[in-house]
Amino acid sequence: MTTVTAAEAAYVVAALLFILSLAGLSRHRTSRSGVVWGITGMVIALAATVGLASRTITASGLVLIAVAMAVGGGIGLWRARVVEMTGMPELIAIMHSLVGLAAAFVGWNGYLDVDAELTGSLLGIHHAEVFIGVFIGGVTFTGSVVAYLKLSARIDSRPLTLPGKHVLNVSALVAFVVLTVAFVARPGMGLLIAVTVIALALGAHLVASIGGGDMPVVVSMLNSYSGWAAAASGFLLANNLLIVTGALVGSSGAYLSYIMCKAMNRSFLSVIAGGFGAPAAADDGEQGEHREINAEETAELLRDASSVIIAPGYGMAVAQAQYPVAELARKLRERGVEVRFGIHPVAGRLPGHMNVLLAEANVPYDIVLEMDEINDDFPATSVVLVIGANDTVNPAAIDNPTSPIAGMPVLHVWEAAHVVVFKRSMAVGYAGVQNPLFFRENTQMLFGDAKQRVEDILRGLDALDTPVPEMAGTSR
Ligand code: NDP
Repeated sequence: MTTVTAAEAAYVVAALLFILSLAGLSRHRTSRSGVVWGITGMVIALAATVGLASRTITASGLVLIAVAMAVGGGIGLWRARVVEMTGMPELIAIMHSLVGLAAAFVGWNGYLDVDAELTGSLLGIHHAEVFIGVFIGGVTFTGSVVAYLKLSARIDSRPLTLPGKHVLNVSALVAFVVLTVAFVARPGMGLLIAVTVIALALGAHLVASIGGGDMPVVVSMLNSYSGWAAAASGFLLANNLLIVTGALVGSSGAYLSYIMCKAMNRSFLSVIAGGFGAPAAADDGEQGEHREINAEETAELLRDASSVIIAPGYGMAVAQAQYPVAELARKLRERGVEVRFGIHPVAGRLPGHMNVLLAEANVPYDIVLEMDEINDDFPATSVVLVIGANDTVNPAAIDNPTSPIAGMPVLHVWEAAHVVVFKRSMAVGYAGVQNPLFFRENTQMLFGDAKQRVEDILRGLDALDTPVPEMAGTSR
């Protein structure tokens, strides 16, 4: 068997492992094996690619590849070990930016180093691949950098609204098509520089125009773009595995974006076009008086409750409150209270973020329900505990058509008899919108770090169970 045949066979095995990996990652129970399939596939793919390269690369070139892999792999390992779960979206965004940058570099390299055997229409196809690769790579690069800056709160998450922003986006796309035709007809560095600049500006503008509430879709959309950028590089490098892998990432990312758009009642096209049609102004002003409650009073409320729904959000992840929250759910169930969790599809900062945290704290799967499964049950619920959630329980999404989150489905927590909101202040959520829930008659705010407050409630419940010793002299 020649090296090429062995490498191609290894590529087929790696591609199958990547498909198995995606299948595994689609369910919590199988996600660990999904990660193992993915790592195995990647190791096989890298070994086969280095094996292929060893036929034409000198020993010093191979050493350089090994050094680059060790440095890149080391940085990746370090970041993956230290990243907090709440920092995952920004890590993913910055990783996508590297895929985009690599695709743009591969495109530029494809222009500077053309295979002498390519002539006629094959050369034209090659130049089209170069141009498309640089364009997708550039858009992915700056789009992901802006997403990283927004997700890590280094820039404001509110949408940028330049005058005529949709005209700017459409003009960039039209310019790309015209320049591609010109480049295929007469390749030149000036045209390649022009498309690089347009792609970089378009990527930054598309993502900057999208509001905080729509960022989950943006992350999965950039995931998809990074896949197409890798596929474009695969065509240029004549690497079948890169084409297959890029297409897998591109299509699964696009499908995830579509599912998230449906879950958030957003138009897919409107989000990828940079928030087209998104309502304008955010309202972060306070809306009346809020009422407060303390942990002991909350414990009493829970003692008397027959049914409780817990709606967790990003704040539960920040506070790492999932363990005491799981303990609270266990204690209440022991007392005969019906306890369930209501999970919004974009709660937290990752798809499935809350499910992962609750699974980590051993909350039984059967009491963790999706928004659609639980939304009709709030009117019959005694107490809702909103633990560090904000945008995902905001009634303005339903009541206020001018709100930036208008139309987004939310958990109808306010329909319960009592709502207790755990947060540290009256600050707005990720979308930058004030939440009228906090000012409703049946809502009480429990201020402080969510973990500490839940622990206080656990102590409060224990104290309620402990019989008060009778005072000396009162007994007969
Ligand atoms: P939000 O981000 O809307 O709100 C979180 C709340 O948690 C804040 O109001 C904050 O208030 C509170 N909080 C923060 N730290 C603590 C703490 N230690 N203890 C108690 N409370 C705390 O959360 P949601 O989960 O409701 O909504 C998620 C938002 O993130 C949505 O807008 C979604 O679109 C967006 N998003 C989601 C992604 C995903 O894939 N799931 C990805 C990117 C964005 P305070 O500061 O007063 O404590």
